[in-house]
Amino acid sequence: MEGLIVLVVIAVIVYALLKGGASKASKPNLGDPYACSGCGVQVKHNRRTVSAWEKGARSFYCKSCHGQWREKQTSKQPSGCLGFFVLLIILPSIAITSLFLF
Ligand SMILES: [Zn+2]
Repeated sequence: MEGLIVLVVIAVIVYALLKGGASKASKPNLGDPYACSGCGVQVKHNRRTVSAWEKGARSFYCKSCHGQWREKQTSKQPSGCLGFFVLLIILPSIAITSLFLF
């Protein structure tokens, strides 16, 4: 019975070691293939996906899916900021043109 417990403990340790080694080895290299999490297309890792992996991301998107995601992110931003920015540009230009007119 004790022999069995020792065997199980050894098996668990070996499994943990193998799993740890595997997760270390799974760090993507430039050019390694992966399946896009958005559309499932096989693409190669680039600097963007590798740096995303280093930041903790484990699902990657191809260039077009990433572009769509970025567009969604920018469209989510509130337009109030943009309105303020427009005012910031338009008001001084009106002031400057009125200076030249009068
Ligand atoms: Zn994709």
